[in-house]
Amino acid sequence: MRILAAFSALILSLLCVSVNSLAKDKLSAEEERARQEVERICLSMQQYMERPGNLKSVKLDKSPEINAYADSDNNVTFLMGMVDFVRDENELAVVCGHELAHLAAKHISRSLFTRIVSSVAADAIGGIAGDVAGTALYSKQSRKHEREADRRGLLYMWQAGYDPRAAWKFWQSLENQYEQGNASIAKYFGTHPVTRERVENFKVLLVRNCYDSPTLPLCEEILADKELLKSFNEYEERD
Ligand SMILES: [Zn+2]
Repeated sequence: MRILAAFSALILSLLCVSVNSLAKDKLSAEEERARQEVERICLSMQQYMERPGNLKSVKLDKSPEINAYADSDNNVTFLMGMVDFVRDENELAVVCGHELAHLAAKHISRSLFTRIVSSVAADAIGGIAGDVAGTALYSKQSRKHEREADRRGLLYMWQAGYDPRAAWKFWQSLENQYEQGNASIAKYFGTHPVTRERVENFKVLLVRNCYDSPTLPLCEEILADKELLKSFNEYEERD
């Protein structure tokens, strides 16, 4: 009998935990509207992905952190802090395009694989040298993935009709927040480091894409923008 009572108490407490966590995760009406807005924008770019079937769903997390990520189950999740941080739908499309590109290129499963390979390599070499070799392999790949997601994501949002100039402006504003010590940005910044190079790369990409595909929207304005042309010419002279 005592065992039965203990068992029911356990079941009851488990139920309470799951009800509580459901209540915690349940979106308010306003948050659900925000989720639908994020979903609408992400879905408008889906057809431009190299593998459109790689997007399963678009989720919203109530957290005030400025973050967004793609996962190995092919979901894109925006945290509420990111929804509040972006200044318009063009910037939201920049973030979603980047995450969709990670899904299209299967970066997450490739990273998981490399993480396993790196740790095996680290163990095989052993000690600090092994850790350094493993970490170097992983971070080299993640930098490559970031550049690729920036390049592909920009094209998705551009083709879907958003203003692609929002890309460098978004990353610049992220950099400014980081400089000002905004702690809620730390995680996103950790996986998506902003360097001067990243912002410059977007300016170069805008001009290069317009030279390669002049029929893309807004190319007339982009190719008349002195700041963008200056970045492009400096880049070309360097390389
Ligand atoms: Zn990324």
